Amino acid sequence: MKRLLALAMTLSAAPLAAQQDLSKVEIRAEQVVPGVHVLFGAGGNIGLSTGADGSFVIDDQFAPLTPRIQAAIAKIADRPVRFVLNTHWHGDHTGGNENFGKAGALIVAHDNVRVRMSSEQFIASLNQKVPPSPAVALPVVTFDASTTFHINGDAIRAVHVPNAHTDGDSLVHFTKANVVHMGDTYFANGYPFVDLSSGGSVTGLIDAVNRGIALGDERTRYIPGHGPVTDRAALVRYRDMIADVVAKVRAGIAAKRSVEQVVASKPTARYDAQWGNAFIKPDRFVQTVYASLVAPRHHKPAGRTH
Ligand SMILES: [Zn+2]
Repeated sequence: MKRLLALAMTLSAAPLAAQQDLSKVEIRAEQVVPGVHVLFGAGGNIGLSTGADGSFVIDDQFAPLTPRIQAAIAKIADRPVRFVLNTHWHGDHTGGNENFGKAGALIVAHDNVRVRMSSEQFIASLNQKVPPSPAVALPVVTFDASTTFHINGDAIRAVHVPNAHTDGDSLVHFTKANVVHMGDTYFANGYPFVDLSSGGSVTGLIDAVNRGIALGDERTRYIPGHGPVTDRAALVRYRDMIADVVAKVRAGIAAKRSVEQVVASKPTARYDAQWGNAFIKPDRFVQTVYASLVAPRHHKPAGRTH
């Protein structure tokens, strides 16, 4: 029973669990500030702006959850979803695109999100092949550096952060509401997942988190890709933890230690109780940091247009 429970918890925490049983998943809405909500379910946290101009949605979890997500949104706002912004291409953040696209929402994302969703992808660390998405699921409007939505009395700015969790990550800054959706550059309850085969890197991840920290102040609410909403101090602690582990692994590489030796030296030891029990286990995090630091260069998505 205990093992079953542990397995269930592992599955519910797994950002990309394709085989996850979604039939029991409930979508729970929480107000972040007036006019901005977060929806928790399975997969990436959904950000939601509501108001007179219509609904603006950040990420849309898995396709089978769309009716439940739509019902949760309808309880908060009676206007249609006009825009879906994807923080990156992973299926637990874009799985509802096809449904929302068919329902009339305009899908927006960084250029590389469309590139990766348009062709078969392979996530090496999960040994997972991902087929191309149908045309209606693809972002219709893409951007390179940033774009701004002037909606519901706010200016909602999506800012690309290069080579972080993937090569197509955006942070989404509600400049008036003082909320930032960090996408998967922020795992609020565990070690970060860096998808090296999608162009992610640990140094880019730290840069992205620093960008997020710089966007806010001590009153900013931060929506992570996974885990609960936090304040800026928690995001700073997450950054400091990653930077410390990266520094220790870098020192090991400089001392010509192998990845096995660096893993055995347990550079995450002091953090494992707090961060080591979620999707990414300590050894895997260290292996990823090592691989990222010794990687000659970032993987470019096939068919990149610029
Ligand atoms: Zn992701």
